[in-house]
This record gives sequence, C-alpha cells and structure tokens, in this order.
Amino acid sequence: MSDGLAPYAARSETSRGRRFQEPTPAARSEFQRDRDRIIHSTAFRRLEYKTQVFVNHEGDLFRTRLTHSLEVAQIGRTIARNLHLNEDLVEAVALAHDLGHTPFGHAGQDELNDCMKDYGGFEHNLQSLRMVDVLEERYAEFDGLNLTFETREGILKHCSPQNAGMLGEVGARFLNGGQPSLEAQIANLADEIAYNNHDVDDGLRSGLITLEQLAGVGIFARHLEAVRALYPALAGRRLIHETVRRMINTLALDLIGQSTENIAAAEPRSVDDVRAARPLIAFSPAVREEQQELKRFLRTHLYRHYRVMRMSSKARRIIRELFHAFLDDARLLPPQFQEKAEQDEPRAIADYIAGMTDRYAIREYRRLFAVEQD
Ligand code: MG
Repeated sequence: MSDGLAPYAARSETSRGRRFQEPTPAARSEFQRDRDRIIHSTAFRRLEYKTQVFVNHEGDLFRTRLTHSLEVAQIGRTIARNLHLNEDLVEAVALAHDLGHTPFGHAGQDELNDCMKDYGGFEHNLQSLRMVDVLEERYAEFDGLNLTFETREGILKHCSPQNAGMLGEVGARFLNGGQPSLEAQIANLADEIAYNNHDVDDGLRSGLITLEQLAGVGIFARHLEAVRALYPALAGRRLIHETVRRMINTLALDLIGQSTENIAAAEPRSVDDVRAARPLIAFSPAVREEQQELKRFLRTHLYRHYRVMRMSSKARRIIRELFHAFLDDARLLPPQFQEKAEQDEPRAIADYIAGMTDRYAIREYRRLFAVEQD
C-alpha cells in the first residue's frame, strides 16, 4: 500500500473510532493525535515522579515511569518500523501504558488492590484506561482524552473477566478470546525488553546486584563475554552499557525475526485477521527462555532484595493508611474528590491515591499523620 504499511497494520483511516465523534484532525493522523493528547495530559507529567523500581528520591539517574515509558516507545517504534506496522499507534500505546500506575511501583499497586478487595479491586492496566477514558479533565465536550479504540485496546493489556464485562467493545477480547492489534502486541513486548534491561542497569548502579552475579545469567553472560573479547580493558559504566545495549539489540532483532516468520505463516490480510489469530509478535523459544531466566534473576536478587523490600513495606504502609483514613472520614479528601465520593467513596479514594506521585503521597501522609509541622 502507498502508505508503506503492511495490509494487516492498524490504520488511522480505518480506525474503529472514538467514543465521542470528532472531526478528523487536519495535520495529523488519528493515532498521532492520540499520542499528542497523551503527552499533554496531567497523568503523563506525573510519571516523572512515579517509581519504576527505585523511589524517585533514591537517586537522580534511576528510571522513573516517565523515562521507562519513553524507552518502551523508542524500542517499540523500531520494531514496528521494521515490520511495516504503525509506529504512531505503538508510540501512543507505549506512552500511555503506565498512566494508571500508583505511586511506589508494584508495592503501591498491590496494596491498593488489597485495600479495594471488597470494592471491586484495583488493576493498574484498567486504571490506565480509566485515566484516558474518564479521569483526565481537559476537554469541553467529554471526560478523558477520547482516544481511538485501537489505542485504548492497546492500553488494556490485562483485565479480569468481571471488569471486562463492564467495558463494552474494548473488553470483549478478555471474554471471547482474540488478540489486540500487532501494534499493541509490540508495545507489550517492548515494555518487557525495556524493563528487563533498565532494571539490570539500575540494579547495578544501585549496587544491589553485581556484575559477578549477572555473569551467571545466560543472556547477560554471553553479551558480557562478547564485549570483554572486543575491549579487554573496559570496566565500570561503559562495560555495563556496552553489554546492556547489545542485549536490547539482540532482543529487538529476535522479536523482529520471529514475528516476521509468525506473520508469514499465519498470512493475516487485515487487522481483523490479526485479532482472530494467535499472538504473532513473539520472541524465538530460545530467547524467550533466556528472558525468563533474566526475569527470575531480577525477581530473586533485585525485586526481593531486602533494601527494596524495606522500601516496598514503607510504601504499602503509606498507601494503606491513606486509604483507611479517607475511608473513615471522607471529609479529609480534597473537595473535588469529596464530590466524587458521594457516588462511590472507595473508588474515588482509589482514583485519588492512584493519581499521586511518590512525593505527593509522602507529603499527604505527613499532612495527615505527622504531629509536628513540616
Ligand atoms: Mg511498563
């Protein structure tokens, strides 16, 4: 086709559209408009102060949700371009995929889910969708950002059947089976490539994991050996970076290669064929296994490191105590959330807490519980 995209790529012109009809943008595609709305949103700016693994105040050089999201978009676009898929859609999904994350990373999400267990639970993927569908307040004619179906479909990576049933068209695949677009599948795996590699990098920078430990992990070891063979005297940050950049490259190339084979075998002719097929964007079995090994290593040695656990425990306490203080007395909520609490108090509290940055949550905790003034 003349736009350079494969026939099974998602296209602006054939988008399933927005929930509220709007005129076609004059100088952008529909997915470019989605991306631009995401970048201009409040939730996007908050990502700068939200934890990926390390809490924002622990150091200036660690990834935050913002830099993580940018890395996901960059990796995803490279993969999409090579597969003749829609880069703009991958970028929009990648930039939005973590908008619903709570402060303090997974510890925050798990605690908020526990707090909400009698009130419908809390899922960060669903919250990302809620953020772009409902919570952003910017436009005169609708709540949320009114994004296209395709971007919303990509944001909703996981969803419980119970919640899927309430979401209409965008939740249907969690009930009936089926896949999202290839662009959404790319954003999902680009997320995995980004966090595995930057967590290695941040883990080493923090000193919580060491090169010696990582030399026992297949994918890291073979790239480290390759760098050492080329540059025997190289050490420190450059050695780490040369190794990590090769890992990212290997993973992206493997994903492009295996996905090309999968697509050739499945012969999809349209996005609808893609939605009815098995997942086509995938690593080769050997590299998938290596990725799993690296993930297991990170889980044991980084995410469960006692210093990370201490941070997680503190984070959970902050979230838990904020939640219960508000639930006990909604008058402690800022006025706009008190209004929302009149309809559904626990959900309004979860929305308020989920929207907080790390440092805002810490300040709010002090404002509510500290006896001394700041
Ligand atoms: Mg992510």
